[in-house]
Amino acid sequence: MSARDWRDAAACLGEDTELFFARDGEREPGRIRRETRAKEICAGCTVTGECAAFGATQRFGIYAGETEDERRARRRRELRRASAARPRDPEGAVA
Ligand code: SF4
Repeated sequence: MSARDWRDAAACLGEDTELFFARDGEREPGRIRRETRAKEICAGCTVTGECAAFGATQRFGIYAGETEDERRARRRRELRRASAARPRDPEGAVA
C-alpha cells in the first residue's frame, strides 16, 4: 500500500472529521462521547498501523484510536523505557 492510498481504506473515510478533533470550548461529556465514537470507528479499521505512523507526526486529533493526550503519554512512557534500558557508564563519563 502506498504512502497515500492507505487512507482510501480508512474506516473513517466519509465520517464527520469533527469526531476526531476537539472543538474549542468542548465540554467533558461531549468530548467523551466524541472520542468514544471515534475510537469505535478506529476499532474497526484495517489501516491502524499506517494511521499510527502518520499520527505520530501530528499534534492534534485522534489517530489509530489514540487521542493526542494518549499519544503524548505513550511517547513519554516509551522514552522512559528506552532511557531505563540504555546501558550506563559506571564511571558516569560522557562519551
Ligand atoms: S485508525 Fe481511525 S483515524 Fe486512523 S484511518 Fe482508521 S478509522 Fe481513521
